[in-house]
Amino acid sequence: MIDPCDKCEEVLQPYLDRELTEAERFEAEAHLDLCGYCRKRYRFEESLRRYVRQAWSEGMPPELKEKLAALRTPIL
Ligand SMILES: [Zn+2]
Repeated sequence: MIDPCDKCEEVLQPYLDRELTEAERFEAEAHLDLCGYCRKRYRFEESLRRYVRQAWSEGMPPELKEKLAALRTPIL
């Protein structure tokens, strides 16, 4: 699958991890306004992370934790 936007990974990962400066976040948000692909991905990732964090804090089965850890997505 071809990634239509090279900026996506670069912009979205730190954005989701809340590691951007104010200026960078502004730029990322501007990009999300312009790029439907990023916007969809961002919403998906954000809801996924929210779900995972909630499930994590409520306590989840160890085997599910292992599966999530295997996804290599930084969760916390
Ligand atoms: Zn994009």
